[in-house]
Amino acid sequence: MSLPPVRIGLGHDRHRLGPNRPLILGGVQIPYELGLVGHSDADVLLHAITDALLGALALGDIGEWFPNTDPQWKNADSTIFLAEAANAVRGRGWSIANLDCTVHAEQPKLSPYKKQLAERIAQLLSIDASCVNVKAKTGEKVGPIGRGEAIDADAVVLLWRADA
Ligand code: MG
Repeated sequence: MSLPPVRIGLGHDRHRLGPNRPLILGGVQIPYELGLVGHSDADVLLHAITDALLGALALGDIGEWFPNTDPQWKNADSTIFLAEAANAVRGRGWSIANLDCTVHAEQPKLSPYKKQLAERIAQLLSIDASCVNVKAKTGEKVGPIGRGEAIDADAVVLLWRADA
C-alpha cells in the first residue's frame, strides 16, 4: 500500500493560571504575576505542539507518552516532551515542513513575544524560523480565557518525507 508523502497533525491544550508559578510559553519565561498550573512546567504551547507532532504520525498523545501521574515528569521542562516527539518524527523518516500555532490568553498581552516564541520553537525543533508561526489571541473577556483563568494553545504541523 502506498502512503502519501505528507501528514498533518493537530494539537490543543489548556492550563489554568495560578499564583507562585512561572509563566512558561514555547520554552520562554514570560514576566507575569501568574503562571500555568500543571504536573510539568505546564507549557501549554509546547504541549499543543508535542500533540500535533505525535498526532501527525498516529502516535497517540502526550498523556500516553508522559503520564501526569509519573513523578518523573513533576515540574518537568516541556522542551523534553517536544524533543522526544521530534525525535520520534525524525526517527521514522519524517521532516517538519511547517508549524502554525495560536495562543489564547487575555493577559499578559503576548503580541510583543510572538516572534521570540516562534524563534525559540524553531530552535528547539532545529528548523528554520520562517517555518514557525505563533499567533496571539485574547478571549474577548468571556469564558475561562477571557476571564484570565486559563491559557489555551492550538498547533498544526505538516510533516513530509522525500522517499515516500
Ligand atoms: Mg498540558
